[in-house]
Amino acid sequence: MSYLKNNLEEVNNIIKEHAVKVSRNPEDITLVAVSKTKPVEMLKEVYDLGVRDFGENYVQELVDKINQLPSDIRWHMIGHLQTNKIKYIIDKVYMIHSVDTLHLAQAISKEAVKRNLTVKILLEVNVADEESKFGLTKENFLENYKEMMNLPGIDILGLMTSAPYIENMEDNRQYFVQLRSLMIDLIDKGLYNKDNYYLSMGMTGDYPVAVEEGATLVRVGTGIFGARNYNI
Ligand SMILES: *Cc1c(COP(=O)(O)O)cnc(C)c1O
Repeated sequence: MSYLKNNLEEVNNIIKEHAVKVSRNPEDITLVAVSKTKPVEMLKEVYDLGVRDFGENYVQELVDKINQLPSDIRWHMIGHLQTNKIKYIIDKVYMIHSVDTLHLAQAISKEAVKRNLTVKILLEVNVADEESKFGLTKENFLENYKEMMNLPGIDILGLMTSAPYIENMEDNRQYFVQLRSLMIDLIDKGLYNKDNYYLSMGMTGDYPVAVEEGATLVRVGTGIFGARNYNI
């Protein structure tokens, strides 16, 4: 069996196993294959194995790949997005996971209105309070959300977090619990009224635990494509 096929089957099996363990329906969880730095040939192979959701971090790379790959791919923008680059991807991505400031949400809203679009977004929360990471904080989340929730042209559909790199994935369980709590709190306060929401959480090092804590989108790169080389 090919390397990618083997990895993909393993990741899908682990997602299933951990969903079943907590009585979740595995079909409620979407695997987003995080393909940054990886060549289009590898994405094509994973596409041919049935994957339709791909995650990318860099605007230029994302646009290049969109142009070379089938049009039924759902592209997830998961990296930090500068406002001056919104225009290159706003009509090409399925969802933007990494909306990390009110300023960015307003800029996406403005561009969306201009083009008569509605953009699906998630709000990134730095629940672990890591200095090196982008995201709203647990403390300023609610006030920012209230400012964003009525902006035209954007549809806030849930929350995203990147937990710390750790040896023991159990160490990140608390952060996944906290992200879900922020979502539940919005619902309890009557500030989120849609039937469904997304929780984008869990990467190669911790997605089994994220699945157990309610992830609906898991973002796995290394576990599918192997280690990244940023110097190529
Ligand atoms: C790179 C990246 C991932 C995937 O990380 P792996 O550890 O390779 O699975 C997921 N989410 C974000 C935001 C990333 O930047």
